[in-house]
Amino acid sequence: MIVCTTIDGIRSNIRWLRAERKMGELSPRIGFVPTMGFLHEGHASLIQKARAENEIVIVSIFINPKQFGPNEDINRYPRSPEEDQLLCEQLGVDVLFTPSVEEMYSKSDIYTHVHVDLLGDFLCGKSRPGHFDGVCTVVSKLFHIITPDAAYFGQKDAQQLRMIEQMVHDLSMPIEIVSCPIVREADGLAKSSRNAYLSKDERALAPEIFNTMKWMKQQIILEENDVQQVREEAIHRLEGFPGFKVDYVSIVDKKTLAPVDHIDHVSGTLLAVAVYVGNTRLIDNINIA
Ligand code: AMP
Repeated sequence: MIVCTTIDGIRSNIRWLRAERKMGELSPRIGFVPTMGFLHEGHASLIQKARAENEIVIVSIFINPKQFGPNEDINRYPRSPEEDQLLCEQLGVDVLFTPSVEEMYSKSDIYTHVHVDLLGDFLCGKSRPGHFDGVCTVVSKLFHIITPDAAYFGQKDAQQLRMIEQMVHDLSMPIEIVSCPIVREADGLAKSSRNAYLSKDERALAPEIFNTMKWMKQQIILEENDVQQVREEAIHRLEGFPGFKVDYVSIVDKKTLAPVDHIDHVSGTLLAVAVYVGNTRLIDNINIA
């Protein structure tokens, strides 16, 4: 596995790999998995899918300061560079890209940002202003550097995935965005680097987020109960657990991410939740139509 820390370095390695893995007239496909590191089975599932579908697999690990708000401590974000590198090697990654903040943002501030309208107004965008501009800007930069044919994203971050799909469409980027299912712990908690922040007691209660979402889905689909009423009961139920504070419980249109009153099997409906468990903000979602 090649490890690159500079943009020039990874560009020349990609040029070399593209030539080396050429199959007659056919160009090798590059599959790309962007991450912030502290890799777990969720990340591994994306890398494995990329490995199965492409001749060249590139993973990036970059904790992007532009997607952290002023009240979010980037220095506390968990890191495990040696374990991450080992896992990438074991999963057959060809190139691991681990640039510094200076390498990505050229020491001085950058003047160009990528903003996707409307989709960032809902869900996490409301409580994390500027977050998705940071995400779209860095993903766009990484796409320009790596020039992948396909890029792999988890449904765990459903709003991020939806916005990247829109960005790629709007800017005519020739990249297939591959959506990968959420990988969960045995008790239903969605795997996340942030789970490392949870105390023992918080970790024991955290699966109640998924339990509540499953209960909501049942209430809405099987019992055909009123969406808003189920939402309010779910908020009440979640806030009954010690240390839980609901940021949002939203039932939204899958495409526009705007809240809906009724499920829609044609356009699709998503149930998305963000809950503070102690000081840790956890997100999760399930499809309900
Ligand atoms: P992150 O390192 O948190 O920025 O995540 C990098 C990528 O891994 C994103 O596309 C996430 O959606 C995806 N991811 C994170 N957790 C999971 C999970 N539990 N299941 C599937 N994908 C995930």
